[in-house]
Amino acid sequence: MLSCTCTVRADTRPSSSHEVFFAGSDYELNVYYVKGRQDGKTLLLIGGIQGDEPGGYLSADLYPDLVLEKGNLIVVPRANLKSIILGDRGPDGDMNRQFHDEAKTGPMYQVVGKLKELMSQADLFLHLHDGWGYHSPVYVDSLRNPNRYGQSLIADSANFTCDDGSVLPLQEMADSVLGEVNSRISNEQHHLHFFNTRTADPDTPYSEMRKTATYYALRKECLPAFGVEASKNLPSLEDKILYHNLVINAFMERLGIVAEAPRILIPTSGLHYTEVMVNGVPHMLKDKDTLTIRRNDEVQVVDIGTDYKRGVTMDLLGYGNLNDFKQSFRVGKDTQMVFRKEGQKFGSIDIKALSDEQYARYADKQKQEQHDHRQNVTRVFVVAVNDKHHVLLSGDTLKLAPADRLELISSFGDGSNDETVTLNFRGWVPETPSKMPNDDRGYLIEPDKSRLLRQYSEHGEGKRYAVVATDSRGNPVGEIWVQLSQ
Ligand SMILES: [Zn+2]
Repeated sequence: MLSCTCTVRADTRPSSSHEVFFAGSDYELNVYYVKGRQDGKTLLLIGGIQGDEPGGYLSADLYPDLVLEKGNLIVVPRANLKSIILGDRGPDGDMNRQFHDEAKTGPMYQVVGKLKELMSQADLFLHLHDGWGYHSPVYVDSLRNPNRYGQSLIADSANFTCDDGSVLPLQEMADSVLGEVNSRISNEQHHLHFFNTRTADPDTPYSEMRKTATYYALRKECLPAFGVEASKNLPSLEDKILYHNLVINAFMERLGIVAEAPRILIPTSGLHYTEVMVNGVPHMLKDKDTLTIRRNDEVQVVDIGTDYKRGVTMDLLGYGNLNDFKQSFRVGKDTQMVFRKEGQKFGSIDIKALSDEQYARYADKQKQEQHDHRQNVTRVFVVAVNDKHHVLLSGDTLKLAPADRLELISSFGDGSNDETVTLNFRGWVPETPSKMPNDDRGYLIEPDKSRLLRQYSEHGEGKRYAVVATDSRGNPVGEIWVQLSQ
């Protein structure tokens, strides 16, 4: 079930909402719903079903930001995220050939299923593409002829008859829209033309189109549907986006979907983060954080992360004036940074200014905490038990039976890939001394045959022994425990 049905039918108008399906996957699908101040027709825009057609998806991407006076939009800028990331038409096959009736399973087909659901909520559907060359009803040259897709408005039929007998006058609709669009394009070479693929006709050269989204929309939903193709050969990406926009705008006009200008948007947001330079070193802070500095350190806020676009200021209390954003101050006492949108406070960060002595203690404590954190959370130990590899985190306990054979293989932390770390099984003495003192990597440690010095075990009980990782400067950086079962 689509929860968007509720969103679109909810009472708040105007409104914008956003839904994410398959979040975090290669086929994550973002759907935007824009509802006008007054209800009206709903236009569905789908772009990016083939990842190498940026004109289509970057045009669609502009429409979720509209506020509508009348009518509604459902916008899917990036139908095929995986193909867009890879810049490939279809890494798992062409998604726009998957709308025929045989249902398949897999992530790409789940997306197709969602797109089909969205069609049932729309009054008209535009499928945005970029195609090669320039479509022309007459043959001019290899780039400009009736077989080329670029700069065309495609329909599967001039008039489509639905199952219920109603007729969709696709060519008439296209002609009126193209009249409007082409009147705005001064370069005649860039004019768009109507392209009828006659998809249902037995003799059509475009029988492949029977598997496409637009043909599905006609057949199953009796939904007027068009392919919009900008040319891949246009001189700039901006041109491709512009021609898509012109077609979308003309269809919106035809459907009575009206954008509000200027739009009224009152965002409710807060401080997501701020970037503060302390003596030229960047610090990322969140709302309500405390920034600890040494007295008279130089403090400068260089970035304010918020959804508000304009009217944002930062006031360093007791310094400068009301608007201290991007200014530099030597801060000698405890104070606060206050973030405002116009007169409204939306975030704050405390500053603690410590004396040299206090700061030295603070820095030591920080260092110790970081060290503990690294030791306890981020260090990984790789061992083999009976030739089978195991990965443990610092602080973990490995249980060993008397007949088990243990080999210590390696240990590493995050961000320190060039480190040399030795591993010492405390209380175990190898028969032949190792090349590095206290390094027991590479030995076979057999609890039932090995000599273990009980006094090195936990509380001298002879049950739990520590395996300690030590860095090249001799500092312990983490440990795991080996627990012997009887
Ligand atoms: Zn395409």
